Amino acid sequence: MTDATHRTALVTGASRGVGRAIAERLAADGVFVAVHYARQDAAAQETVAAIEKAGGRAFAVRAELGVDGDIDTLFTGLEEGLRGQPLDILVNNAGVAVPKSIDEITPEEFDHMLAVNVRAPFLIIRRALPLLRDGGRVINISSGATRIALREHAYAVTKGALDTMTRTLTMTLGARSITVNTVAPGITETDMNPWLRDNPEAAAAVAGVTALGRTGRPADIADVVAFLASDDARWVTGQWLDATGGLYLGPGGFRP
Ligand code: NAP
Repeated sequence: MTDATHRTALVTGASRGVGRAIAERLAADGVFVAVHYARQDAAAQETVAAIEKAGGRAFAVRAELGVDGDIDTLFTGLEEGLRGQPLDILVNNAGVAVPKSIDEITPEEFDHMLAVNVRAPFLIIRRALPLLRDGGRVINISSGATRIALREHAYAVTKGALDTMTRTLTMTLGARSITVNTVAPGITETDMNPWLRDNPEAAAAVAGVTALGRTGRPADIADVVAFLASDDARWVTGQWLDATGGLYLGPGGFRP
């Protein structure tokens, strides 16, 4: 892998939440970061400004995923921003969650989640392959929801497909020394979970079923991604890294 100060990254969904934290952390490590987003221009510009204020380098790329022409739009903006440099790190972070049970979710909502959480990362990886440097990194952001039985079945199904994508791509990409890994956050303080901010009792309940006793923060995930992106993780591929703080690992104080 090349010197950190010359590396480049695409972080999808980097205008807010976990993606923003990943973009800021990689930029702090000297990586030139493409901050991808869908619609929130102001949030993306804020992320780029925060990175630059901290001495890093970044540019914003707008492309709504799950709509016609999404991958072309993304790569046109990405290649323009990279100005001929190859890509070292691809973080498939953008995702949507419809917190509904099997009898509530509509086929259209399920299809949209599949398009953003599964189809888009698959096609982004394929399109990124000619741009990715040998020895590069692909890091997919999944969810702890794939190892437990929550009522958000459809969301978990899409992330389960992403987990399979990680494992099954390792041999193909390994031929070029590109590692492919998954990071699985637990319940994390972002716009995806407004109820964590609005309902202290619900936040306390989450902390109560988390071994490390609190809700997740975007930086908790970003630091794990930074490790996988680093040279220290060069011999790690095909792995599913739990970054949930130990969510739902056991019964806590319960004694039968
Ligand atoms: P978030 O705060 O809702 O941010 C979502 C990001 O994805 C934004 O940058 C948004 O762009 C972008 N995005 C959303 N829909 C998009 C689309 N159709 N096309 C392109 N970009 C789109 O989400 P988050 O909580 O940080 O989640 C990040 C990842 O972690 C997701 O894959 C999520 O499934 C996973 N995760 C989150 C949690 C959690 O508790 N938060 C738990 C487990 C896993 P705009 O700003 O332009 O809308």
